[in-house]
Parts: sequence; C-alpha cells; structure tokens
Amino acid sequence: MTDTRPRVRFAPSPTGLLHVGNARTALYNWLFARHTQGTFILRIEDTDVERSEARFEAQLFDDLRWLGLDWDEGPARGSAGDGPFGPYRQSERLDIYHRHADELLEKGAAYRCFCTQAQLDAEREQAIAAHQPQVYSGRCRAIPASESAARAAAGEAFAIRLRIGAEPIRFHDIVRGEVEFAAEAVSDPILVRSSGMPVYNYVVTVDDALMQITHVIRGDDHLSNTPKQVAIYRAFGWPLPEFAHLSTILGPDKTRLSKRHGATSIASFREMGILPEALCNYLALLGWGAEGGTRETFSMDELAAEFRLERVTASPAIFDNNKLHWLNRHYLKQSPPDRLAALALPFFAARGCMPGELTDAATRAWFDKLLELYVPAVDQLDQLPQKCSAIFTFDADIAVREPENAAILANESAQRVLAEFAARLAQLPAPVTPEAFKALINDVKAATGVKGKDLFHPVRIAITGAHSGPEFDKLIPLIETGSTLPLPSAIPSVHARAAAFQRALAALPDREASA
Ligand code: GLU
Repeated sequence: MTDTRPRVRFAPSPTGLLHVGNARTALYNWLFARHTQGTFILRIEDTDVERSEARFEAQLFDDLRWLGLDWDEGPARGSAGDGPFGPYRQSERLDIYHRHADELLEKGAAYRCFCTQAQLDAEREQAIAAHQPQVYSGRCRAIPASESAARAAAGEAFAIRLRIGAEPIRFHDIVRGEVEFAAEAVSDPILVRSSGMPVYNYVVTVDDALMQITHVIRGDDHLSNTPKQVAIYRAFGWPLPEFAHLSTILGPDKTRLSKRHGATSIASFREMGILPEALCNYLALLGWGAEGGTRETFSMDELAAEFRLERVTASPAIFDNNKLHWLNRHYLKQSPPDRLAALALPFFAARGCMPGELTDAATRAWFDKLLELYVPAVDQLDQLPQKCSAIFTFDADIAVREPENAAILANESAQRVLAEFAARLAQLPAPVTPEAFKALINDVKAATGVKGKDLFHPVRIAITGAHSGPEFDKLIPLIETGSTLPLPSAIPSVHARAAAFQRALAALPDREASA
C-alpha cells in the first residue's frame, strides 16, 4: 500500500531575505505536516539564475532553523539526486522539465509556438487598442505536427505552449472553497521559453507532482497561477493536490506589508531580539485561530497539535507589532536565566559594555541580576543596553545640564538635599549596601525636612543621571557589585558618581556666579 500521509512543501526562491509572509507560509506547511505526521519538504526555486544567490539560500536555511522549522526532505539533507524525490533545487532538475515537456508535445497536449517577440508585441498592441484581453491568439496551435517537427529540426526557435480547452478551470481551495477561472483568462500558457528556460508555473507543477505533494499551501499571490497549474496537471493526467491559498498580510494602514512598515525580514526580527517562539506564535495567529477559544499563547508543540487548515481565514491579516511585542515579553518572561543570558549578551557585547563571553562566575551572576531587573522593561532584547545605560555609564556633566534635570536641580530644596547627601555619603564605607543607602536617605530627609519626590529625584539624578528608574534597593547593589567586576569599561561606583556629580554641579556657570 502506498503511503497516504500528507506531503507538503515550502518552495522559496533564494532572491532575497525570508520575510514574514513567506515565513508564515513555511510555518503553516510545517504545522500541517507535524499535525498530520506528514512530510515537510524544502524545495529551492532557483530557476531565475540572475536573481538567485547562494547567500540568500544559506540565510534561508539559517532563518528556518532559527524558527524551528526543520525539514524532512530538502537540499541540505544529502546531495543532489538522493532519495526518490531529489534533487530539491530546481536548477538541478532542468533535464526533468525538458523530458516532461517532450512528453506533452508527443501527446499533442502542448505545441511549439514559433511566434517571434515582434509578432507577440504587435498582437498585444492590437488587443489593447481594441480593448480586448491580452491573450495569445493561438496562431501556432493548428500547425500540423509534421511541419512543427520539421521547423524545429531546421533550427527555428520555438517556445512550448500548453493547449488550453474552452471550459472554465475549476479547483477546490481549502481556504477559499470552489474557485473558477474562465479559460480565456489562462490562454495557452508558455511552459518552456524559446531560450530553453522552463517557466515557473510549469516547473512548480512538475515538481509538485513528481514529489507527490498532496497539499499546496502558499500565499494568495499565487492564486491566479493555479488555473495554469491545474491545466498542466490535467495535461499530464496527474491527480490534483489540495490547494490552500493564504491571505495577504497587510500593514496597519491596510496596504500590503512592506519595508515601509518597518522590519519585515526574519533576520531583522532576530537581530532585534525577538524570540523565535514569539515570532512563530505570532505568525501562527496571523490568519489562524485554535478551535473554540481566544487563547493566544501556544508552544510549537501545542500549535502543531491544534493546527487545522480549515481554520485558516480567507480575510487579509493585519500585522500588529504591539501584539508581537506582547508575545515577545511573554516568552522573555518565561525564558530561563541561562537562555536569557546567552540571548542578551551579544547586544551588550556589540556596544562594548560586556565581554563576548561570560567566563567569570561573579560577572555571570551579576549579569543575571541585571537582566532580572531590566528584561521586564523591554519589548525586544536590542532595547536592553539603552535601558540599562544608567548602570554602565554615568556622565555627570550631561546629568546636570539635561533640561528636565536642570529644572529639578534649580530648586533650593534640591540643592540642600544634594549638599547633605554628598556630605553624608562621603562618610559611608564602600561598597554601599541598600540598607545603608536607605538609612542615609532617611538621615537626609530628617536633616533637610525635604521628602517625597523633592527628596528622591535629586538623589536619583546624582546617582543615575535621570530622575526615574528602578528602585534603589535593586539599583545600588547592581552599581556597587558592577563596579568591582572586570568589565570592558569599568562601571563607576556610587561614591565615584556622587563625587563627579558634585564637581559638575559646582562647575555650572550660575553656581560659580552665585558662589
Ligand atoms: N517560489 C515561489 C515563491 O517564492 C513559491 C511557489 C509556490 O509555492 O508555488 O513565491
């Protein structure tokens, strides 16, 4: 008995970066295959030799692996020609396409078209002038087989066209239901150009049939190609697969999602510090929903268990960055410290504030505390170094001049608080503990009679350069421990900050004038 389990494929062209639209197509194919214990095939559609590049293919493999979409058959598993269905790169299958085109010619299902480009252009212009659809006139349809063969043998250039009947072309689409195209909309499509290059619709169909693809799941930008492909299946006498065309992804302004809307490539989301499970979860919900629920968070296994093509919606999906961020925060919160540290470190190393590797146990423990404090405050990991900048650097001259700070510092109460704070801090031994710091603030409060934000804002500015930020209880140990660590650029201690701040304050021009 033959294997009746589904076989699906993701068939990207390596002409650019994998973007969210195609990644969702890959994900839905993968989920469908995993749900049905079917086979997920990766096929590289690289017949456009000018635009296909090895680096895009390599990046594609990386991106799919990063997303967790492992493939069961494809070019990275074994060499060309392996297994009954390879090779998996179209550029390595040209002889297969030519053999099959010959078969159609022999059957009379396809014919040689000797029309020159000039003839075709003239026909098109006439059609435009007469407001007629621009379809091939069928001039070469009736050339007798013997004449056609003789002209080809004499070296006349020809394309190969499929003979389309008069009946409308119908097929079933799992997402859209019954679909029908008039035969004229298809005309007699070219299968192989006069250059010898086979065209997309033809190679895709030959591959899908020979690779025994049972379900063609792809973007609806290919919906208008499907009648041509259906006609090719019929010409060969091959059974049709099921089709499922996924709706377009739109930006918030309801136009097709593009670079104008911000990041769209998988590589860019990865570089921003979006987690793969957040992106997969997000993409899964972009046009699909689990049965009977409003549930929004799913692991890959849960998605695979729940996924049904029948629940994919036909209406366009709108890409919503806020929801992606919400999911990313959810998965960041769930990530164990080891994973978070490994994911976050490169973002700090790139800024030169952390080493590229954490070999020192004390630094590692400190970094975990830093992440514990700041990760809940970010949507994506690339925001972390900026969020933690008060820990890593302290520029007193900027801190005293920053307009919001300057307004706070200009208050007479702030000046009294800071003088008291500086004097008392100088008496505290290093490292300052959170308890000692708290006691010190209480002493400043008692000595000056200033409380609330009039007390806390100036102190915070003197330690961090900003009037808001995390609790002192968390901040003080991070600064004090950090200042003892062998980091690429030393973290200033609480004492060093306060002293630099006093100097910067004293150096302000109006202070000098009033002194
Ligand atoms: N290579 C086509 C593309 O990247 C996909 C073809 C298909 O899925 O049928 O859009």
